[in-house]
Order: sequence, then C-alpha cells, then structure tokens
Amino acid sequence: MKIEIYANDNEKSLKVKRELETKFAERHFVMDAEHPDIVITIGGDGTLLSAFHQYEDQLDSVRFVGIHTGHLGFYTDWRTDELDDLIISLESDNGQAITYPLLDISVRYRDKNKPERYLALNEATLKRIGMTMAADVYIGGELFERFRGDGLCVSTPTGSTAYNKSLGGAVIHPSLDALQLTEIGSLNNLVYRTISSPLIIAPNDWITIFPNETSDYFMTIDQENIYGRDVEQIMFKISKKKIRFAKYRHNAFWKRVQSAFIGDVHEI
Ligand code: NAP
Repeated sequence: MKIEIYANDNEKSLKVKRELETKFAERHFVMDAEHPDIVITIGGDGTLLSAFHQYEDQLDSVRFVGIHTGHLGFYTDWRTDELDDLIISLESDNGQAITYPLLDISVRYRDKNKPERYLALNEATLKRIGMTMAADVYIGGELFERFRGDGLCVSTPTGSTAYNKSLGGAVIHPSLDALQLTEIGSLNNLVYRTISSPLIIAPNDWITIFPNETSDYFMTIDQENIYGRDVEQIMFKISKKKIRFAKYRHNAFWKRVQSAFIGDVHEI
C-alpha cells in the first residue's frame, strides 16, 4: 500500500506529519505522492478539500483519511493522539471504504465551444458582486424560476454542513444521493419571485442556471474562485464519481453534526 501525507502549513500539523513519517519509516511503509492508495490529510476540512482536488483525477484508486489538528471536522475524524491506532488500521487494511457523492459542474463559457467540467466535494456557487444577479433556473430541463439576488449555491450532502448551512440549507445525511440548491440574498417583491427555500434535488435530476448576459460573475468551486469569464450556462448534477474514505471504524454522521454545531447535550 502506497501512502501520501498531505498537511497544511500549521505548526501543529507539520509536527504531526514528521511524527507520522518517522513511524511509517520504522514500519517500512511505502510513500508515494504521485500515485498513492491512501492520502492522509493533517489539518482541517479545508486541508482535505485541497487534497481532494490534488488527487481528483485518481478517485478510483485513492482513499482518504483525515486527521484534525484543530476541531473535529466533517472529513477529518482522526485525532492526533490516535496515530498508533491509525497505523494498526493501515496494517490490517483490506480496502474497506465509505463513499460520498460529488457534484459534477459543467460550465459553458461564451468564448469556448466545449463546456468545461469541474468536480466539487462541498459546493459550487455563482454570484454577482456589486449588482443583482439575474438568472433563469431550470430543473430537469424545465424553467423553474427567474432568480434575482446575490447568487445561488449548489451543494453535496457532505458540503451541506459548510456554506450551504450558513445559507439556511438543510443538513443532509451523506448516504443520500442528492443535490441542494440554496439562494444567496434573493430578491422577493411584487415583481420578482423565487421559491425562497432550499430545494433538494433527486439523483436523476439536474439544475441548469442561465445568467443574464453579463460577464462580471464570480464562481466558486470549493476553495477555487473563477472570476472574469463570460458564463453562458452552468449545469449541475450528481457525479458518477465518488470520493472514498478508508473506513476503519464506524463514525456516526449525526454525532459529528452534534459535536460541531451543538456541543454536549445532557438529558434533563
Ligand atoms: P475557509 O474560509 O478558510 O474556511 C471555511 C470553514 O468551513 C472552515 O472552518 C472549514 O473547516 C469549514 N468547512 C469546510 N468544509 C466543511 C464541511 N464540509 N462541513 C463543515 N465545515 C466545513 O475556507 P476553506 O477551509 O478553504 O474551505 C472552503 C469552504 O469554505 C467552501 O467549500 C465553503 O463551504 C466554505 N465557505 C463558507 C462560507 C460561509 O459559511 N459563509 C463562505 C465561504 C466559504 P476547517 O476549519 O476544519 O478547515
């Protein structure tokens, strides 16, 4: 099994990285940054997002493991005092994996004949800064609404606890193959009308956004920002690809949501 350690540049993460490298060398683990079987990230959810994009063209062969050096994350559930347990799990690895849905984004730019494809682990957004964004929103090829506001966000189930949640979206269990569309500052009055609530889209449906003709759109795909390109159309659907995590132990999703957003709860 070939392993890569991907850490952020935080002092604590780099210390854990050195510790893990020493332990791996003692046990003669094979390290391979080019074509790893397991990518171990050290940092936060943001670090795992970066590692995902670094290896997004190898998702069939790569599995991820996240160690958090700050708070418990949604993608990073190993603590830094569990390195020896992690090594035992790696030594007895039999390829076990848990998979989560990804967002397939296809963007048609006015200056290009062919659409450009992107993959998101959390979400993609389209926003207009300074002026109102006007866009036609289609679901499954049918015109659904004419949106006006700051922007729109389409997220995955694992991304539902990130930006989507700040926008009032629902938290979705990642065993569900679904997409969520949330509004960013929608305009609603006697003239303009949007649904004004998050929509959860079924696996076979897709969302298409046609922004009105203008070029000052700001697009985000997880941590990546794309600005200054003339967007004609963006299509979102659930990707055929999935992210795979090495499943060495059971991790209850709702417990994680509770620890991240609520904290300890005591029965009365
Ligand atoms: P960042 O702005 O440095 O951090 C964003 C925060 O979101 C971090 O605390 C990060 O956790 C957390 N996060 C990332 N993915 C998450 C997930 N799936 N569930 C719950 N929390 C999550 O940016 P970044 O670290 O590069 O992450 C990019 C992400 O930031 C985007 O994908 C978007 O979801 C999020 N974002 C949120 C808002 C908002 O809520 N208003 C605005 C812009 C972007 P860690 O501390 O563990 O890394």
